[in-house]
Amino acid sequence: MRKGILMNTEIIAVGSELLLGQIVNTNAQFISCSLSDLGINVYYHTVVGDNRNRFMEALKIASKRADLIITTGGLGPTMDDLTKETIVDFLGLKLTLHEPSAQAIREYFKKRGRTLTENNLKQAMFPEEAIVLPNKHGTAPGAIIEKDDKIYIMLPGPPYELQPMFINYVMPYLAERENQRIFSAVLRIYGIGESAVEEAIKDLLLNQTVTTIAPLASYGEVTLRLTVKCRRDQDPLEFIKPVEDEIRRRLGTAVYGIDDQSLEMVVAKLLEEKGMTLAIAESCTGGLIGNMLTDVPGISKNFLEGAVTYSNEAKIKRLGVRPETLERYGAVSRETAREMAMGIVDTTGADIGLAVTGIAGPGGGTAQKPVGLVYIAIAMNGNAEVEEFRFIGGRKRIKNSTAKQALDMLRRKLLMTFYA
Ligand code: ATP
Repeated sequence: MRKGILMNTEIIAVGSELLLGQIVNTNAQFISCSLSDLGINVYYHTVVGDNRNRFMEALKIASKRADLIITTGGLGPTMDDLTKETIVDFLGLKLTLHEPSAQAIREYFKKRGRTLTENNLKQAMFPEEAIVLPNKHGTAPGAIIEKDDKIYIMLPGPPYELQPMFINYVMPYLAERENQRIFSAVLRIYGIGESAVEEAIKDLLLNQTVTTIAPLASYGEVTLRLTVKCRRDQDPLEFIKPVEDEIRRRLGTAVYGIDDQSLEMVVAKLLEEKGMTLAIAESCTGGLIGNMLTDVPGISKNFLEGAVTYSNEAKIKRLGVRPETLERYGAVSRETAREMAMGIVDTTGADIGLAVTGIAGPGGGTAQKPVGLVYIAIAMNGNAEVEEFRFIGGRKRIKNSTAKQALDMLRRKLLMTFYA
């Protein structure tokens, strides 16, 4: 196949779990979306079980109607993982040991203190003609084989292995073949819903330029993936930057980060920049906020303490919440949240105190105080601000939403704080 010719693609997902309906074919969805960013057509999605004959049949059909055939799954070490062996037979090639992959697999096992079995080295066997794609998140490398004007790409099944492999190796390989370069930036947004984001940038979404904008929402967060496909001699930032600037202008501080930045990373950076210390009193989140913040390396200078004050007694003893407050307004109330935030500042000497109290469910809700009711307080300079939220979902989701919301409140407060 010549460079610069648009390819037609067929994606073959291998796995009986898919046919049984036990898992959904999200790999095909992900690959299709990514290929569409590259301007490569996907004409067929095929799903086939872990069966050599039927997979062989699928390969025969695909090789007649597609230039690019991408398989997912079936690269594991066990007998029923037969993708690679079948493709190699189909193409009339031979497997030999690919030493760098064997080495990577040995190290993977050594690091985890597990014993390597002969099976595992099956994953390091590739034909000499293959471009082997390293797997940083598992043991099964992927591969690209070019044969008879067709390209065969084999990728592992687990999405957390497939996606980085696709983005880091397959996309650049395909873009290169198309004499193009592909570049993506992800804008991270918190505090406004997906439809409000779409409304604010409706005209940009409708009149997409060389920079495409793809919104995605999950658990209170919205991301916008900006992707540019340009010639190899062009700078993709030239196209991305004006679109990014325009989105930031419209959404303001709701855009909290870019690419892999998390809310906790942004909060940690702001605390460091402002030279401020933080202490947290958590009730319904049970330490989740502290856990998220301590995922950020180097935060010990700014994060002094996180107290999990779950019971009323703990709120009284550890934070100095007044028993009358608890009795009169209840543990989940504006007043209790305020006293918790003030209390954690008083007892730690931190510059800023964050407190959360809420009803994570499934029980404990009433008509006045339903499951999902949460109060978040931030204390600073002798005052505390409290906000009320109503989250939906099960216990885990409510805890997660509360933690993220608390971090976002803190982020917004820090953005407005000038501290010498
Ligand atoms: P491993 O290296 O883990 O053995 P594999 O390449 O052999 O991976 P499979 O055994 O086919 O892959 O699938 C492993 C898991 O990956 C499945 O249990 C499923 O969770 C996920 N998975 C497989 N195929 C898909 C798919 N098409 N879409 C989404 N998830 C998938």
